[in-house]
Amino acid sequence: MSNRSITLNDDLYGYLLSVSLREHPVLEELRKRTARLPNAMMQISPEQGQFMQWLIGALQVRRAIEVGVFTGYSSLSTALALPADGELIALDISTEYTDIARPYWKKAGVDQRIQLRIGPALESLRALLAAGGAGTFDFAFVDADKENYLNYYEALLQLVHTGGVIVVDNVLWSGRVADESDTDSATVALREFNRKLATDERVALSMLPVGDGLTLARKL
Ligand code: SAM
Ligand code: CA
Repeated sequence: MSNRSITLNDDLYGYLLSVSLREHPVLEELRKRTARLPNAMMQISPEQGQFMQWLIGALQVRRAIEVGVFTGYSSLSTALALPADGELIALDISTEYTDIARPYWKKAGVDQRIQLRIGPALESLRALLAAGGAGTFDFAFVDADKENYLNYYEALLQLVHTGGVIVVDNVLWSGRVADESDTDSATVALREFNRKLATDERVALSMLPVGDGLTLARKL
């Protein structure tokens, strides 16, 4: 026993999945389809998807926004957890990836809940703000280009209402954020993002060693 988060070796990770994973069959299909891509590791893990679904249920989210869709696994996880009249605005710059996503969203019967907007996410976020979207979202998930995380966060902090939750992926970046000799632009951006959030009094903060590190920020 220990008072710090446990390290998961393959056996323990397999055990965790065997006693807790409840993956929708279309999510499983999409995960297997995505696994054939060279950059399949960009997809969130199934237990992270399930955690986000749990959170969406607990928070009774109706309106969600996602920055970084890829082949749509996190979007599908989110959409499946929303109520029938729920809505997910999903932002990505790539049609190559998101074209893979669409048929799976349809097959799972939740495509009507997902509004995909293609283009630089910062422009889409600013357009939502300009259209009066401030304070209209319950939940946001950030998983796109790391260099823009702070910009996405600032826009999302306006788009979610008080009590709304922003979930940010890859904040531990395979451990690279703790290695000061790593000056890669994404690593530097994530380090700066984490440093800023550490003292951001506009939110209640929790950083979890789930997946590649997950920050939860609740707007106060
Ligand atoms: N959340 C996805 C999942 O679980 O499968 C993974 C997202 S992947 C890590 C990052 C995505 O961000 C890619 O699909 C990429 O096209 C998108 N992206 C990168 N830069 C972007 C930008 N400036 N605006 C919008 N999307 C961007
Ligand atoms: Ca990610």
